[in-house]
Amino acid sequence: MNKEKLYIDGDYVDSAKGRTIAVVSPINQEILAQVADATKKDVELAVLAAKNSQRVWKNVPFLEKIQLASKFLDYLKEHRDEIVKTMVEELGSAITFTESTQFDFYIRELEDLLELLDGFEFIESFRGYDMVKDPVGVVACITPWNYPLGQITKKILPALLMGNSVILKPSTQTPLTAHWVAKAIDAAGYPRGVFNLLTGKGSRLGDCLTTHPDINMVTFTGSTEVGTKVAASAMTHMKRVTMELGGKSASIILEGADLDLALDKTLDTVCYNSGQTCSALTRLLVPEKMKHQVEQMLLEKVENYKVGHPFNRDVQMGPVQSFSQLEKIRNYIAIGLDEGAKLLYGESPKDMKVKPVIFTNVKNNMKIAQDEIFGPVLCVISYRDTDEAISLANDSEYGLSGAVFGEQEEATAVARELKTGNIFVNTASKTTNVPFGGFKYSGVGRENGIEGVLEFVELKALINPLD
Ligand code: NAD
Repeated sequence: MNKEKLYIDGDYVDSAKGRTIAVVSPINQEILAQVADATKKDVELAVLAAKNSQRVWKNVPFLEKIQLASKFLDYLKEHRDEIVKTMVEELGSAITFTESTQFDFYIRELEDLLELLDGFEFIESFRGYDMVKDPVGVVACITPWNYPLGQITKKILPALLMGNSVILKPSTQTPLTAHWVAKAIDAAGYPRGVFNLLTGKGSRLGDCLTTHPDINMVTFTGSTEVGTKVAASAMTHMKRVTMELGGKSASIILEGADLDLALDKTLDTVCYNSGQTCSALTRLLVPEKMKHQVEQMLLEKVENYKVGHPFNRDVQMGPVQSFSQLEKIRNYIAIGLDEGAKLLYGESPKDMKVKPVIFTNVKNNMKIAQDEIFGPVLCVISYRDTDEAISLANDSEYGLSGAVFGEQEEATAVARELKTGNIFVNTASKTTNVPFGGFKYSGVGRENGIEGVLEFVELKALINPLD
C-alpha cells in the first residue's frame, strides 16, 4: 500500500511523529493509502521553508513564473487519466463528471487565466504616486474534499503567480489528489520551499496555521461552520483572509421560462457530484400556477440520473463521499417529512449510493430549505408573485450562487435583486474565470479571474514628487 509523505522545502518527508491517516474509498471502503499526519513541528518547518523561499521567489520575473505554471499544468495534463482515477477512488464521483468538470474544466480555466494575465501590471502610475502590487507573503491554503483538484489549483496557482509562497492543507478525506499537485510542482521545477504540502487533521493544524506570525494570509474553502472559526482566529492575528463557504442557492422560474433549460440546469447542479457542490441550486422557486407542470417534468427528468459504480461510464452519480454524508442526508430527509414537506421523488437512502430526492410543498423557513444538506436533495417552493420570489430567494443566510429563467429582460431585472455572488440568467453553461464567491455567510473575497488573483497581492502606494 502507498505511503504518502509530506512535501516540505522541496523534499518528501515523514510527519515529525511518524503518524499516518488512512484514506478510505467511498466505493468499497478499501484503504487506498496512508498519508502522513502532520504535526505542529511540521507546520513550523513548512512555514520556515516558505518564508525563506519568499525572498528570492517574489523577485523571480513574472514571465518565469508563468512558464513554471505552464509546466505545472502540462504535468497534470500528461497524468490526466491517473489523476481522474485517484479522484474517482477517493471522492466517489462518476468518472465522466470527474473528467469533464473535476479535471478538464479546472485545467482549462487555469490555462485561460495564464492568457488573461498576459501584460499584467505590477506597477501602475497615477498622478503623484505609483500603485505597487506586492505579494502578501506566506499563504496557507485550506481546502475541502468535494472538488479535490480544482479547489486546490484555483488557490495555489494565482498565489504563486503573484509571488507568494504556499502551504497547502487539503482535506483528510481526499489527500491523494493533493499529492498529484505536489508531484506536478516538483516536476515543473519550482524553487524549494515555495510550495509545501501538509496533510493532516484540520482540527489539529488549523490553529497553528491561523495564528503563526509568519503566515500572512489564510485562504479557506469549506463549511461555514469551520470557516467562521478559521476566519475569527486568522483575523485576530490580522492575517489577510478569503473564505469560500457553503450555500443554499435558489433557482427561480418565472412565467415564460424555458422549462427544459431551467430544470435540466437545476437538476444537474443538484445531482452531479451527488449534490456535494457548494453552488448547487437546491431551492427551486416556481410560480404557484406552474407547480404541477414543473413537478411532472421533474419526475420525468430525474430518471435520467443513474446512480451506480462511479467507474461505469453510463452512471451519472457515484456514492456519496462518506458515511457521515449519508447520515446527514438521511437525517435531513426525516426532518423534511417531520416539517410537513412532501416527498415527490426518492426516499431515505439505504446505502452510500444516494439517489436524488425531491421534496415539494416546501416552505422557505423549513430547515430543509435553509440548511446546506450537501446531498442530491431538491426543495420545490411555490410563490405568488415576482416580489415574493425575490424575497424568498434572498431569505437565506447564504448567498453563493443562483439562477433565473424567464423572459430575458425580466430575468435580468430579478437577477439584479438577488444577494448572491453568481447568478445564471437563462443559461446552463459556465464560462471560465468568472469571479466566484459569496455574499453573507457564503464567504469573503473572490476566486477566479483577475479579481481572484488580486486577493493575493497587497497594494503599496509609492508617493512621488509632483512634476
Ligand atoms: P470542512 O469545513 O469540514 O473542511 C474544510 C477544510 O478545513 C478541510 O481541509 C479540513 O480538514 C479543514 N479544517 C477542519 N477543521 C479545521 C479547523 N478547526 N481549522 C482549520 N481547518 C480545519 O468542509 P468540507 O466538508 O471539507 O467541505 C464541504 C464544505 O465546503 C461545504 O460546506 C461546501 O459548501 C463548502 N465548499 C465551498 C466552496 C466555495 O467555493 N464556496 C467550494 C467547495 C466547497
